[in-house]
Amino acid sequence: MIEASLAELADALAAKKVTSVELTERYLARIDRHQGALNAFVTVDRERSLAQARAADARLARGERTPLLGIPIAHKDIFCARGWLTTCASKMLANFVAPYDAHVIEQFGAAGAVILGKTNMDEFAMGSSTENSHFGPARNPWDPARVPGGSSGGSAAAVAARLAPCATGTDTGGSIRQPAGFCGISGIKPTYGLVSRYGLIAYASSLDQGGAFARGAADLALLLNAMAGFDARDSTSLERPKEDYARDLARPLAGMRIGLPREYFGAGMDADVRAAVEGALAVLRTLGATAVEVGLPNSALSVPAYYVIAPAEASSNLARFDGVRYGYRAPEYGDLADMYRKTRAQGFGTEVKRRILVGTYVLSHGYYDAYYLQAQRVRRLIAQDFVAAFGECDLLIGPTSPTVAFPVGAQVSDPVQMYLNDIYTVGPNLAGLPALSIPCGFGAGGLPVGLQVVGPYFSEARMLNLAHQFQLATDWHRRAPPGFAAQ
Ligand code: GLN
Repeated sequence: MIEASLAELADALAAKKVTSVELTERYLARIDRHQGALNAFVTVDRERSLAQARAADARLARGERTPLLGIPIAHKDIFCARGWLTTCASKMLANFVAPYDAHVIEQFGAAGAVILGKTNMDEFAMGSSTENSHFGPARNPWDPARVPGGSSGGSAAAVAARLAPCATGTDTGGSIRQPAGFCGISGIKPTYGLVSRYGLIAYASSLDQGGAFARGAADLALLLNAMAGFDARDSTSLERPKEDYARDLARPLAGMRIGLPREYFGAGMDADVRAAVEGALAVLRTLGATAVEVGLPNSALSVPAYYVIAPAEASSNLARFDGVRYGYRAPEYGDLADMYRKTRAQGFGTEVKRRILVGTYVLSHGYYDAYYLQAQRVRRLIAQDFVAAFGECDLLIGPTSPTVAFPVGAQVSDPVQMYLNDIYTVGPNLAGLPALSIPCGFGAGGLPVGLQVVGPYFSEARMLNLAHQFQLATDWHRRAPPGFAAQ
């Protein structure tokens, strides 16, 4: 059961081979057993989860059949869920109980999915390793001495370790794809605006996008079906007809043109990552796809542009955490300004402070034109590069990250090194494009390697088609980390 796909779980629930309560209990027991080693969750609330599972069982008993009814899902602790502690892994929100549901939580609730818990992450989604969490680092199930990636590292670790069949995440510059790659699972970041940001605690609003993790691409299609859709409460939510993201899963890949960005295959990628990605390309060729080299000439500017724009937006978004409206307030202070200062000094961690400082600097009078405006211009060029590349191919592939998962502690003292993890992932966010990561092999130390797929706007169904066909021909996504296999 622990290795079943979401469709298989739905069938088992419908056939009464298992109840939602039993399934939820099963996962809660696995969380209990492995939480100490992985620190994948911030909050588990057994009674709340089981109450939802009982409600799902009642709907199933009435004959209701929807794809996610009764299926447990873990949510990144950035999504507000009514009555649940919603911390964003920050001391600032360590005691914040959300009074309402995020759109994504509502959608999964309506679909009858059961909240299994809230997962660990980098504070306010700033990071690439889940080491910037107020609650301590999450660990990679393939090697607990290594990071699971970030910022949605808890969700990725939970799915990889079979503590949850699926999970949500958010991706501002790679936070779904990079941890999916590091943990050997599948993860999708949809086109910007496809999934409402209502109730998703804001980091960098023009980049943030909710998405999902699962072991396989067919599961991702079902999750995206539940998450996507217009929401008037998010002004950047796109008003589009409902789509079935599973509609192209079975389509053969014959005739698909795959673009290989020259810049992604140049220097910078480790040899073990390259070997796995080239192996994946060989598989796609045997499935009938053709490959063409394309250029993304401005991609070297994507990390510098991202690390100006994202902190700029963060510095504005995080101004609301002032000790008055939300969460933590310093216990002792003098006047109002002193209260703000002490609250923010005590409530935010080092990386969040660094981003706020960089962000206010690049937005300040005198530096705005030199940094922020310049970064926006570069952003436009990067988006145009992708548009040009998609003139020559249907989808792009490349590595998700330049390396496999690194040891806990290895990069915390070198922020620039940490930022370079995002070299292949930030481009699609800057352009607003959909992108996913699927497992494509193992590198040094038996650690998973992720294959990134990037597509034109709204090409999620086609990207999932490629991913699913690849997964029919390979079994990387079925491998379980030693010590976490089904039992
Ligand atoms: N690692 C990137 C950052 O720290 C991306 C994070 C994310 O996508 N939320 O900003």
